[in-house]
Amino acid sequence: MPENPTAALTRLPTIRKPRSGWAVAPNLTDYEAARAGFRWEDARRELDFLPGGRGLNIAYEAVDRHVRAGRGGRLALRWLGKNGERRELDYAGLGEASNRFANLLGRLGLRPGDRVFALLGRVPELYIAALGSFKAGCVFSPLFSAFGPEPVRARLALGDARALVTSATLYQRKIAAFRESLPGLIQILLAPEADAPATPPGTLDLSSALAACPARFEIPPTDPEQPALLHFTSGTTGRPKGALHVHAAVIAHHVTGKLALDLHPEDIFWCTADPGWVTGTSYGLIAPLTNGVSMVVDEAEFDIERWYRILAEERVSVWYTAPTAVRMMIRAGEDVARRYDLSALRFMASVGEPLNPEAVEWGRMALGRPFHDNWWQTETGGIMIANFAAMDIKPGSMGKPMPGIEAAIVRRVKDGGVEVVDAPEEQGELALKRGWPSMFRAYINEPERYANCFSGGWYLTGDLARRDADGYYWFVGRSDDVIKTSGHLVGPFEVESVLMEHKAVAEAAVIGKPDPVALEVIKAFVTLKSGHAASEQLKRDILAHARRRLGAVVAPKELDFTPNLPKTRSGKIMRRLLKARELGLPEGDTSALEQAQ
Ligand code: AMP
Repeated sequence: MPENPTAALTRLPTIRKPRSGWAVAPNLTDYEAARAGFRWEDARRELDFLPGGRGLNIAYEAVDRHVRAGRGGRLALRWLGKNGERRELDYAGLGEASNRFANLLGRLGLRPGDRVFALLGRVPELYIAALGSFKAGCVFSPLFSAFGPEPVRARLALGDARALVTSATLYQRKIAAFRESLPGLIQILLAPEADAPATPPGTLDLSSALAACPARFEIPPTDPEQPALLHFTSGTTGRPKGALHVHAAVIAHHVTGKLALDLHPEDIFWCTADPGWVTGTSYGLIAPLTNGVSMVVDEAEFDIERWYRILAEERVSVWYTAPTAVRMMIRAGEDVARRYDLSALRFMASVGEPLNPEAVEWGRMALGRPFHDNWWQTETGGIMIANFAAMDIKPGSMGKPMPGIEAAIVRRVKDGGVEVVDAPEEQGELALKRGWPSMFRAYINEPERYANCFSGGWYLTGDLARRDADGYYWFVGRSDDVIKTSGHLVGPFEVESVLMEHKAVAEAAVIGKPDPVALEVIKAFVTLKSGHAASEQLKRDILAHARRRLGAVVAPKELDFTPNLPKTRSGKIMRRLLKARELGLPEGDTSALEQAQ
C-alpha cells in the first residue's frame, strides 16, 4: 500500500542556526563532530562515582558531589507554591534533607531494593523523598497526585509498595479505604500541607520524623545496575506498565541534559513536567541537578498568565515543556506573550507529543526563539532524538539521534525479526540499538512483554517514523494511531499539523472511522483559538483548507468542534479515547486521563 502520502507537505522553511555570536556558547557546537567523537566511557567520566570505588548513585551525582566540590551554597531548587509561597533549597540543604530521608527509611525498616512510592503534588518533600530513596538504595516510584483511588491502588499493588509518601488529604481521599488490602505497604509518611487534617492513625508525620533523623548519611555501595526508579507509562494506549530504571541511567540523564537541553551551571531551568511522568523525574529532577543548575519547581497547574510570569520573574533561561502547553499559548495569542519580559530565555525545548511546525514557528515569532522538539519515552529513560541548539531546525522534525544513540527505521519481518530500512523517506518503526545507560531494564512482573520489545539487538519503540536524506527523523504516529484510508497509511500528525495551519484552529486530533468503501475515513476534532466561534461555514472552510493541502483522499471527511481534547496527565492527546467515544466502544483504561471530559 502506498505509504506516507502526506510526506513533504507540512514543511516550513528550515530555521538556520547562527554559527557564531552565541550569547552562551552551546555545549554541542558541531553535531557531526560530537557524534563521531562520542564514547559512553567519556560520558561516565563526567560523573564522580561514589568515593572509594563504591559504585554509582544518582543522588550522589545530583547533589552530594556538588557539596563536596564546594558548590553547596548554590541554589538547587526554588519552589513556587500554588498560593504564592516560596521556598529555596541550596545544594547543601537538599543534601542534608535527603540524608535525613534516607536515614528515616532505614529506621522504619526499609531495605535496599524496597519500593518507595510518592503520591504528592510538586512540593519540596517529593524531591527530597526521591533523592533520599536513591541514597538508601530503595526504588522510587512517583505517581500523579491527581490519579483517582483505583489507579493508585493498582500501581501500589503492581509495584509492591513498601512505603508511601503522601499528604493527609490525599491519604484520606484516595488511600485510607483500601489500605488494609495492601499488607506489604508498611509505612505511610505524610508531608506537610496547609490546613492539614489531623494525622490519621497508622501514618507518620514526615516533618517531625525527618527532624529526628541525623543530617549525615553515608550512601551504601551502589551497583550501577541496581534498580532506582519505577515509572508507570502514561498509558495513551493499553494498560499501564511499570518500567524499571537503574542508577546507571544518570549517565544518560546528565549527558542529554548537557547536550540536548544545553544546560550550563549558571542556568535557571524550568521543566514544567510533573515527576509522575518520566520527564518530571529525568529532567525535572536528575539532569538539572547533575548539571549543577538552579531549577524552578511550580506547584500550580497550567495557567497561562502564571507561566509567563514565572518565565519573566524567575529569569528562566532554559525551558522544557510540552506541545500541549505551547498550543495553549498559541490559543491565547501572542499579545499575551508580549506583555512579559522574556529576555532571560535562551533555549526552549518540548517533548511528549509531536510538535507541529506551526508551533515551532510561533515560538520564533511570538517569543523570539524557536521551540526545539525532542523525542523519547518512559522506556528510553532519557532524550534519544533532539533538535540541538547548534543545529538547523526543520520545523516538524524531532531532530537527530543523541551522540551515543544509534537509531534506525525498521520493518518487522517473519519470525519476530526486523530488517533495517536504509532508504530515506521510507516509513517504518523507529528502533534504537540496545544498550544505552538509561534503557529500561524490565517491565516489572512482565518478562515476556519486555522481551517482545527487542529484536536483533534493536529496541522497538512502537512509534512510526521516517528519516530524511539529511538524517532528520520525522514522527508519523504511534503504530496504534495510524489510519488506513483508501489504500493509504496515514499518520495523524501530519493531518493535524495541516489543520493547525488554519488561522482559527488551536488544536486538532484525527482518528480513523470505519467506512465500507475506504476501510477508514478520517474524522477530525478541533478546538478553536480565542476570538473564533464554531459555525458550519468555519467547518467547511477548515475542511476545504485540509483538502487543498492534503488532497481529497487523505483529507478529513468529517469535523467536530470541541471545547477540549481528552489528554493524559502528561498532556498527550488520547486518540484512542476519541475513537472509542465516536464508535460507542468501551473506553478501556482511562486512569491517565487528565480530567473527566
Ligand atoms: P511516554 O512514555 O508516556 O513519555 O510516551 C512516549 C511516547 O510519546 C512516544 O513513544 C511517542 O509516541 C510520544 N512522543 C514523545 N515525544 C515525542 C515527540 N517529540 N514527537 C512525537 N511523539 C512524541
